[in-house]
Amino acid sequence: MARYFGSKCRLCRREATKLFLKGEKCYSDKCAIERRNYGPGLHGQRRRKVSDYGVHLREKQKIKRTYGLLERQFHTYFEKASRMPGVTGENLLVMLERRLDNVVYRLGFSGSRSEARQVVSHRQIMVNGKIINVASYLLKPGDKVAVDESSRSQIRIKGSLDGAMRRSYPSWLEVDPVAMTGTFISYPDRADLPADYNENLIVELYSK
Ligand code: SF4
Repeated sequence: MARYFGSKCRLCRREATKLFLKGEKCYSDKCAIERRNYGPGLHGQRRRKVSDYGVHLREKQKIKRTYGLLERQFHTYFEKASRMPGVTGENLLVMLERRLDNVVYRLGFSGSRSEARQVVSHRQIMVNGKIINVASYLLKPGDKVAVDESSRSQIRIKGSLDGAMRRSYPSWLEVDPVAMTGTFISYPDRADLPADYNENLIVELYSK
């Protein structure tokens, strides 16, 4: 699968917001947004007038980059969301949240979504008692997610759980940090999802 190998902090600086792509560093004063909150590159500090199209594009890029997806994958999710009953923008966000790599991250089994993808592809995560190594696997209510027994002593996973416990868990997930297990209780409501996402802009962008 194609992936982005460039600087992650550069992506945050381009979107002028924290996308939380680097685990604990994102919560420290070493975060690049805390230190240099202006665009990357030679002309990053220039003030630019953003067009209407630019506003729509930046919102799409922000959400796409938060979940670590490339354009084609993101667009495929949008198309699926638009064919589902209900509100397309919300369907899109809920589908992104249902991805196994996202849930592993939200449960605190990894410090970031990219680390979660690695943990999943290294066969360290079980869903309903079976190893699943596909990061895009979509979870449904009632699914049980657990760190495989052979990986429970890993310092990296323990460290991530410690960090997650200091923050809060989403209400649509139930977590047992000691047993390293979690349950996907229900699909998240819009109110459970980040308030700073404006999914309507993405719908408008793709409908142009
Ligand atoms: Fe973004 Fe994290 Fe880098 Fe800060 S440390 S700029 S939140 S990836």
